[in-house]
Amino acid sequence: MVKTPMPEFYKYYIENLGCAKNQVDAETIITLLSESGCARVIEADQADLIIVNSCGFIEKAKRESITTTLYLREKYPGKKIILAGCLTERYFDQLRKEMAEIDGFAGNSDLNEVKEVSLALLRGDKPSRDKRKIKSGNEVIRNDFLSFPGSAYIKIAEGCSNYCSYCSIPYIRGKLVSRTIRSIREEIETLHRKGIVEFNLIAQDLGAFGADRGKPEIVDLFAAISELKGNFWIRALYIHPDHFPWPVLEIMKKDRRFIPYFDLPFQHASKSVLLNMGRKGSGEEYLELTGRIRSEIPASVIRSTFLVGFPGETDWDFSELLEFQMKARLNWLGVFEYSREEGTRAYQLKSRVARRVARERREEIEKRQVPITEVFLENMIGKNCRVLVEEKVEGEKFHIGRCFYQAPEVDGLVVINADGLEAGQFVQCRITRRNGFDLEAVLAEDEDLS
Ligand code: SF4
Repeated sequence: MVKTPMPEFYKYYIENLGCAKNQVDAETIITLLSESGCARVIEADQADLIIVNSCGFIEKAKRESITTTLYLREKYPGKKIILAGCLTERYFDQLRKEMAEIDGFAGNSDLNEVKEVSLALLRGDKPSRDKRKIKSGNEVIRNDFLSFPGSAYIKIAEGCSNYCSYCSIPYIRGKLVSRTIRSIREEIETLHRKGIVEFNLIAQDLGAFGADRGKPEIVDLFAAISELKGNFWIRALYIHPDHFPWPVLEIMKKDRRFIPYFDLPFQHASKSVLLNMGRKGSGEEYLELTGRIRSEIPASVIRSTFLVGFPGETDWDFSELLEFQMKARLNWLGVFEYSREEGTRAYQLKSRVARRVARERREEIEKRQVPITEVFLENMIGKNCRVLVEEKVEGEKFHIGRCFYQAPEVDGLVVINADGLEAGQFVQCRITRRNGFDLEAVLAEDEDLS
């Protein structure tokens, strides 16, 4: 392929859809394109190239990725458009055939492919359509970019080997590939020197980190991070509850930089439904898990997700889930309706649950969760806490930020009634009021920080 020389500063716009892991991929794409001299713009109409970083996890997300791409195609007929991300990784050949109006396609098993297709299109060359190269390990996982001021996602592994029966991720992102502890430590050190103070460790299942090298190494990773100097938060997102790495609690008790925020996707509480999902737990076991975490570290905050409408889920199974919800009193909870995904083991399962029933069950859980989360937030009023400032609210004398019990993008925020703060810094605050799932605060005089 003849490479046309690259003019200065081609501009590109990236439309990021999907989960936190897609966010990290988007940041890596931004790094790769910036290193190639391309400039990112925040409005599509200013761009020469538009990249849609799609999601292919469930039906709803797939539809959103396609409608977004076609909407941008229609709105910007003269611009180059690439459909990248999970949807393309999963349906590469089909999409190329069916979406001829899109200029380029690139999956996410090797993000360099997005760079290559982008540069080819910007040069006016036709991106090669030959078999894509697959890479693994560290070289494809990088995120030199910030997610929020002072905060970064650190992807410690790619892919998943748990093969839950309803999940398409192992077929999109492949088997588990863990980074080395050394490369993660170095990345945290480098970013902390750049002023980052919150590190959100992400993978499909943090608890399995290192298992592709023989045995889980999440405890070793925590121990290695704990040796680092500095004032920062470490947040662990997505630990599979069936193999919770208990020794991490000992490290967290000694080193409070490991904030007691646990994202444990339980998915269900009925033993038979969990079994059909390819999971080993039960409501009783998960209650013991949450109880033990909370007794060992009383300030612990637990987020989870439930999946309702799974084939074979009876009214009795659902009542078990409701009972578990009332007993576990999870601080934050997201609920999803089962989405039948071809290629997954559950796709073949009979006794499907009607969409209406699945929706009603999701709405019932969401309704019951509101007072649980509100009571949890009410209990924060009058307490002091450390807040990570995210931004100043334009034209107002207040800022927004997050306490340790609020993860980026998914949990509420803190509105700080103070001026002159810096985004990306920690400030001591006292919570004064709850407003829905958000909190209000003032700066705290004393050093007593919970
Ligand atoms: S652990 Fe998570 S990512 Fe892995 S197969 Fe199960 S649901 Fe999917």
